[in-house]
Amino acid sequence: MPPPQRPQVDPRDAGLLADVSAGNVRLSSEQALQLYHEMPLAELGYWADARCRTLHGEHIRTYVIDRNINYTNVCTAKCTFCAFRRDAGDAEAYTLTNAEIIAKVNELQSIGGSQILMQGGMNPDLPLSWYQTLLCELGEACPDVHVHAFSPPEIVEFVHFFDPPGGDFRAKVRWVLERLQAAGLKSIPGGGGEIFASAVRRKIGLGKCSADIWLTVMHVAHELGMNTSATMMFGHIEGIADRIHHMDLVRKWQDKSLSDFERDGGGRYMAFISWPFQRENTPLGRLPDWDDEGDFPGDVVAQLDGNGEKSADTDFGRRLRLAGASAYLRTQAISRLMLDNIYSIGASWVTMGPHVGQLALSFGANDMGSVMMEENVVSAAGTTYCLSEPVLCHLIRDAGFTPAQRDNTYDLLTVHDSDLSPDLQVDDWSEFREAKLHVQGECSDEPVPVTVGQAD
Ligand code: SF4
Repeated sequence: MPPPQRPQVDPRDAGLLADVSAGNVRLSSEQALQLYHEMPLAELGYWADARCRTLHGEHIRTYVIDRNINYTNVCTAKCTFCAFRRDAGDAEAYTLTNAEIIAKVNELQSIGGSQILMQGGMNPDLPLSWYQTLLCELGEACPDVHVHAFSPPEIVEFVHFFDPPGGDFRAKVRWVLERLQAAGLKSIPGGGGEIFASAVRRKIGLGKCSADIWLTVMHVAHELGMNTSATMMFGHIEGIADRIHHMDLVRKWQDKSLSDFERDGGGRYMAFISWPFQRENTPLGRLPDWDDEGDFPGDVVAQLDGNGEKSADTDFGRRLRLAGASAYLRTQAISRLMLDNIYSIGASWVTMGPHVGQLALSFGANDMGSVMMEENVVSAAGTTYCLSEPVLCHLIRDAGFTPAQRDNTYDLLTVHDSDLSPDLQVDDWSEFREAKLHVQGECSDEPVPVTVGQAD
């Protein structure tokens, strides 16, 4: 049963927040919104950190080594925040072969990686058999690698492209997912979550599925025993209430999955990861910045129930309010306090940089995300921060924790509590500095063996 709410209590009340931190009380959406606007940042971090320590203990904070493989950039959708997609026939359009994908996975395994995050554009030229063959060949070539792949918008397009049998949309999704699961798919990433409120979603996610469909796909995955992630991309045209509504929907659907399937071994949302929109090279990024005068149009439109109407402000969708470090940390802290039924909160590295990511460990994040070998989608929008595994471990240790490599289910693979830890093996950090670890807009392949990027 979800914890009870005390909606009449001022959310800044220390007694209430102590109960929220202990997992005994659930914040209401109204309380979360009030906290976002009124609580000093450091205090918000204190309570999010307290909740994180209740769930994850005092000592260990994790990361995963995986590889983000974008198998095709051909996409029929035209999301306004995307700089990655290409039309079929474009000079830069590509679809990787199975051999190329397996070669990438072999490279990942050679550095101790445990999973791949595989996502692509919505490419109508790829039949179901292409995905089944790929998954089977991957399973034969790399049986120990966890395949975390195909976000809900891709699954929705599979339903459109493959025309599976089934009396309704849910049955069709189930038919597709059962076949992908049988071929080797293990879990589903949370891509395409963006912002659930329909007024925002219609403006920024052209061609992408509605919130209800996104959440239904994940519910079917949970029914089939697969774990998933949930994500949120914020800091564009949305209001703060839209972010809270987004978290509330994730929380409600997690309750539903746990209630419906937990006793039968069903899956669940294991993690929530949120990151600020990156504007470079994207149509959405060409909108003018909000001048900070008066109310932000997104806030005028946004409603906690997700039913905001764009007609509430004629400038809605015409101004950007990008999120900086404090808005990012504030949003992440609220997510840790709101999402009492989600195990992990991941820090965002690609967009925020290593030092804000490190700070995120004091604002509710227990996981530093992914030490990845490549990242294409976010880096196409301009910002990519590159870190090696030793530097990542160093940042976690420097934040006061013991770094540990985890797998997809958040089981610990290696706890770096000895002198053999990757960061404690480094005598000369200058080579890492020379590798330009904090480069914006490019990831150096040399000499650091792996880079940190956005995983979901
Ligand atoms: S974000 Fe994904 S679905 Fe949207 S246009 Fe880009 S590749 Fe296509």
